Amino acid sequence: MDAEIITIGTELLLGQITDTNASWLAQQLAANGLNLFRKVTVGDNEARIAAAISDALDRVDVVITSGGLGPTVDDVTREAVARATGRELVFSETLYTDVAAFFRRRGTVMSDNNRRQAYIPAGAIPIPNPVGTAPCFAVPVERGGKTRYVITLPGVPRELKHQMTHAVIPLLREKLGLTDLIKSRILRVVNLGESRVDQHIGDLEKETNPTVGLAAHAGQVDVRITARAGSEAEANAMLDAMETRIRERLGSYIFGLDQETLEGVITRALVQAGVSLALVETNTGGRVAQRLAQASAQQGVAVVKESIVAMTPDVLRRVGGVGEGDTLVSEASALRAAHYVRRLNQTDIGLAIVSPLEALDPYSDNPGATYIALADAQGELTRALRFGGVSDVAMSWSTNTALDILRRRVLNLTEEGL
Ligand code: ATP
Repeated sequence: MDAEIITIGTELLLGQITDTNASWLAQQLAANGLNLFRKVTVGDNEARIAAAISDALDRVDVVITSGGLGPTVDDVTREAVARATGRELVFSETLYTDVAAFFRRRGTVMSDNNRRQAYIPAGAIPIPNPVGTAPCFAVPVERGGKTRYVITLPGVPRELKHQMTHAVIPLLREKLGLTDLIKSRILRVVNLGESRVDQHIGDLEKETNPTVGLAAHAGQVDVRITARAGSEAEANAMLDAMETRIRERLGSYIFGLDQETLEGVITRALVQAGVSLALVETNTGGRVAQRLAQASAQQGVAVVKESIVAMTPDVLRRVGGVGEGDTLVSEASALRAAHYVRRLNQTDIGLAIVSPLEALDPYSDNPGATYIALADAQGELTRALRFGGVSDVAMSWSTNTALDILRRRVLNLTEEGL
């Protein structure tokens, strides 16, 4: 079954409000096994709304509108649906009684305008609105040898959510005989660029059920698996099978699932292993410490003993043990900084991120390098990153890479060299 969403409101077109209804509705449709073909936004104009509904009815089984059901003259969704479906507007006693009862409960006076809201296209199924004054309705329409539905919902997000959850989804499941559901799972990947992930699982991205899709962030990639099935158990089994295939290919580059964060995984691992940590940061501006602090607060633990954020050459020279005239930013100074902060705090691990302190364009020919060094009882390791200097991109890449180095050390994971 296919669906389209039409969000109505000139405010949406002017960019004065963000269309949160469309994305929320899209999630609900997906979760109930309806394919969303397209989303459209139209201003408060009867002819244009009617044309959008009519077009959509030629393509899909369900057209859902949001907004324009209020009592004022610019609320024209009722008239537009009537026009698109070739119906008269008729008075619905059910909806009138319902709106009147809402006003009575509130102890407020119902205006003549509110009476307009009880008019719905002939043959429509009224959907009373217990949480607001804009009543909704569903119009069954015969098109292409099938019964299709135009469903109207209020624009106010709280009302829309209530009506969709309590009335529309049950109605659609019954009328369209919907049994399928859609479930997704996200595998979170670190320290492997999107194109390299794609190189390894590109063939899986062509499969149709479950589907596999990528979303890239700096230093992190999300691999989303989506399965359509007749039951939760069947969907889970399909997700498990695809997850196993992806894990065989991406191995330890996958650090977690769904809502898991890199810092959350590391914090748990540090606590389990009883390992303490101290840091030196430059272009990450304390982001590594901050992310670990946030995860620590959520888990009710503490894992970072000290974080030195070196933002001037003086401080970097001191922590990196760099003499006057020596190179300030180097693998050697990063290593010395890791040892320095470890010694100072008597921690198991010292981790240092050392980069140029000035703003550098990460996409320029020579963006400098960031050196990440780790020192612990097993020894030391270093990594040079192509992005140096201060920029958003360098900050994200350096933070994620430093966290990943830490994760691999604490969990004893070796890179598969993908
Ligand atoms: P009501 O009679 O309760 O006003 P309505 O169906 O006429 O309902 P609108 O007047 O279109 O709804 O919108 C009411 C308010 O709901 C808007 O001012 C806006 O704040 C919010 N809203 C409308 N559409 C959306 C949307 N697509 N996403 C998020 N918020 C929306």
